[in-house]
Amino acid sequence: MTNGGMIIVGAGEAGAQAAVELRRRGWTGSITLIGEENRQPYERPPLSKQALLSEGEPSPAVMLNAETIREHDIGFLPGYKAVKIERDNRAVTLSDGSGMSYERLLLATGAKPRLLTLNGSAPQGVLYLRTFADALAIRGRLRPGKRVAVIGGGFIGLEVAASARQLGCEVTLIEAGPRILMRGVPEEIAVMVNDRHAAAGVVFKLGVSIATIEGTGEGHVITLADGTGIHCEMVIAGIGAVPETSLAAECGLVIENGISVNETLATSDPNIFAAGDCCSFPHPLYNRRRIRLEAWQNAQEQGRHAACSMLGATDPYSVVPWFWSDQYEQSLQVAGLSDMGQTTVERDLGIKGKLFFHLSGEGRLVSVSGIGPDGGIAKEIRLASMLIEKQIRPNADLLADPGTKLKRLLKEVG
Ligand code: FAD
Ligand code: NAP
Repeated sequence: MTNGGMIIVGAGEAGAQAAVELRRRGWTGSITLIGEENRQPYERPPLSKQALLSEGEPSPAVMLNAETIREHDIGFLPGYKAVKIERDNRAVTLSDGSGMSYERLLLATGAKPRLLTLNGSAPQGVLYLRTFADALAIRGRLRPGKRVAVIGGGFIGLEVAASARQLGCEVTLIEAGPRILMRGVPEEIAVMVNDRHAAAGVVFKLGVSIATIEGTGEGHVITLADGTGIHCEMVIAGIGAVPETSLAAECGLVIENGISVNETLATSDPNIFAAGDCCSFPHPLYNRRRIRLEAWQNAQEQGRHAACSMLGATDPYSVVPWFWSDQYEQSLQVAGLSDMGQTTVERDLGIKGKLFFHLSGEGRLVSVSGIGPDGGIAKEIRLASMLIEKQIRPNADLLADPGTKLKRLLKEVG
């Protein structure tokens, strides 16, 4: 058994950030980063976009290269899975049977794709996208003229649909809900995204569920509940992600839509922390509502925050949630929690796009969302995010008027 130090399980976005931050904050003991995937930590956002569209063989966008790992003296164990936590002994067992003890442990185990089941069983041949290996498998089959069925009108589904259309595939997107992007994206933006895809030739089947998926010689036939048959060579499902909590649950940590952590990202065991897609936390800006985010910025920020908490800091994690999605030439971004809004104020930025400010019943700015050509809305969303952090109650007319600089509103609140 190796001697105790900081152990991080999961070498994704949150785990990699935490490892570097521990060293940056002056931790001189050992840092062990355990990663089930047998490669250097890499970014997932390009997997549904650049990795599928790249002309040559894509490479993963490595976020922690060998030099950084060496410089920060991180004990990186790629290709190892943590299979057991013994909280009494503060020990972790790895897939090869070896063990190591910890002073503090971070669980950054992420999420895995929700698997499609029909009549109690998983249809054969359905593809999912979470890892670089998944992206390679999908990319190898996206060829001009191929018929691709995408199940799920969330981020994976829409980003893959955009990439597949750009590669000349025939794309049908099936979504059981009445509209795409039901979760976390306001309807105003979902409509614009829908229109852009339709203009690109994506065929939508909304508000209808799937009855069966059957293999044919060269592909599949999907039968919808209304009897429609869809013939395709490839089926990709993006029907949500499930937090990876098995290790935490088996050692008795509290699970509440993910590994339950407090404001400092400590779990129900004060020596174990969790960060990123795998955990749910109370957000101080939203009445301590317990949320779980599946977004790149949250994983980064929580990874860094957890590292500080592991070293004894007690600051609450209160970063305004933010994510983006790139589809075709458009980027959509959402800051804050749009489902907390009761009224919406629109600001038209002309060729730069549109912003939608979401105000609570008391008139507080709780979220902003925007859509526009690449980069067009980024600065405005950043400023609005700072206004959300300040918990301002802005005048709706000022918000609607593109002549009112958000910077000015920010200065006014100090
Ligand atoms: P992950 O990145 O999932 O990392 C967790 C790691 O832990 C994995 O490598 C896993 O193998 C490992 N692991 C799990 N259990 C164990 C164990 N027991 N032992 C060892 N290792 C283990 N977000 C955005 O905001 N914008 C985007 O445009 C965007 N695009 C995305 C595109 C795709 C295709 C995907 C899949 C996600 C995208 N996201 C995007 C979401 C973002 O990438 C995730 O929120 C982020 O990666 C979460 O980081 P994480 O560290 O919590 O988890
Ligand atoms: P998602 O965004 O949650 O979308 C899942 C979609 O599938 C939803 O529209 C959902 O509808 C639908 N759905 C759920 N169950 C279904 C079923 N049984 N049959 C048919 N449809 C079903 O998840 P995702 O697109 O699969 O993405 C997976 C993960 O990757 C998430 O963590 C996501 O955040 C991340 N990701 C993020 C980005 C980004 O932020 N730009 C890009 C790609 C991936 P309901 O809402 O009605 O349940």
